[in-house]
Amino acid sequence: MGKILEVSNLTIHIKTHKGIVQAVRDVNFYLNEQETLAVVGESGSGKSITMKGIMGILPKNGKVTEGTVMYNGKDLTKYTEREMQTIRGSEIAMVFQDPMTSLNPTMRIGKQIEEMLKAHKKDMTAEQRKARAIELLSLVGISNPEERYKQYPHQLSGGMRQRVVIAIALACDPKVLIADEPTTALDVTIQAQILDLMRDLQKKTKTSIIIITHNLGVANIADRVAVMYGGKLVETGDVYEIFKNPCHEYTKGLLASIPKAHEKGNRLRAIPGTPPDLMDPPKGCPFAARCNETMVVCQQFMPEYTECGKFHKSACWLLDPRAKGGKA
Ligand code: ADP
Ligand code: MG
Repeated sequence: MGKILEVSNLTIHIKTHKGIVQAVRDVNFYLNEQETLAVVGESGSGKSITMKGIMGILPKNGKVTEGTVMYNGKDLTKYTEREMQTIRGSEIAMVFQDPMTSLNPTMRIGKQIEEMLKAHKKDMTAEQRKARAIELLSLVGISNPEERYKQYPHQLSGGMRQRVVIAIALACDPKVLIADEPTTALDVTIQAQILDLMRDLQKKTKTSIIIITHNLGVANIADRVAVMYGGKLVETGDVYEIFKNPCHEYTKGLLASIPKAHEKGNRLRAIPGTPPDLMDPPKGCPFAARCNETMVVCQQFMPEYTECGKFHKSACWLLDPRAKGGKA
């Protein structure tokens, strides 16, 4: 299996009236063909901006200042908006958190799927588009697809609406699907159903998937996990490795914050402290200020990546043989 997407040294700045937000700082990761990669981190760690940078849909004040996004041997950061329009939707598609804002409330859902087909599959006839729309509704597990085809978004439940959004994203058989917190707006049982659906769809469609989540528990549907914090990628590894042998203190904190099955509700336990201000990010490890194991060196220098298992590396000074003792 080859790499379908490879992000190298990606750095993204967002200009605001208060200063420059260093939202994404020298991030490296790849996505293999037909695998699911989970990108995990608390709110504000740079997950969405990374994906928007890949898709060329950064806010107007945002800019990729360094790095490459290689897709099919080409660097997407060099693409013009026009060229990106041929990629978005047909090659790389995205699903956002809130299905209500991604759907047009005034348009029947069948038509909304057809709009996507119209934009990218110019040779399809109206009948073919309708047949494909119904087929897609059925693919995402919507029963009575012919009836649903004619309905408006408000006639569907939240979980159904997210299924429709996924159907739109898959309409043109994209090679890569990026799902940004696709279950966060939904209640727990529906979340589990949507995750099951994504796993099932991957088997059927062979799409490569990036799923973004603030809940490491959700990442167990993935093959590999990338953990982001403070605009940096702090740990990456095989899903089994991340759960059995987390190496970064931040990953350990995320793991401890997953609610246990016997606990009521679905609220994550928060890691004490707050994430760094990306307008003035720390020069050392971004997690140093919240880490129980922090050493003097952590605050001064960014740790390098240390291999800590199969396809598993982590940027933490505790793993670096050069840093011994010296607790802060
Ligand atoms: P995540 O998706 O991990 O929650 P984001 O990628 O949305 O985080 O945000 C990363 C950083 O960029 C945060 O510090 C956030 O405040 C900042 N940011 C995101 N969008 C904007 C914007 N439009 N203008 C200014 N800052 C932004
Ligand atoms: Mg986000």
